[in-house]
Amino acid sequence: MSETTTPVAPEAAAAAEPPAAPKVKIKKLRQRACDEKDDKGKVCCGHLKRWYDYPPMIEALIGKKAEIYRCEFCRTLYTPDLSELPRSFTLRY
Ligand SMILES: [Zn+2]
Repeated sequence: MSETTTPVAPEAAAAAEPPAAPKVKIKKLRQRACDEKDDKGKVCCGHLKRWYDYPPMIEALIGKKAEIYRCEFCRTLYTPDLSELPRSFTLRY
């Protein structure tokens, strides 16, 4: 009987960013408005909307069916802060 080795699929190395990669920020807990500042230092305050129908380019960045929010004004993307999920366990496999 031979041992079967399970090949470990390496995570897609996302070292090379696409040239027109949008800005992706981590959304703070309960954050509802964009806190991105423009060149004059004015806070955008755009409403962050859940974005379901994102293009493949974004999908490559954050994965399929990921939770992503987009500012309605400056189009900055926000991903939920996964490090602060209200869960009691820290390791998830
Ligand atoms: Zn904004």
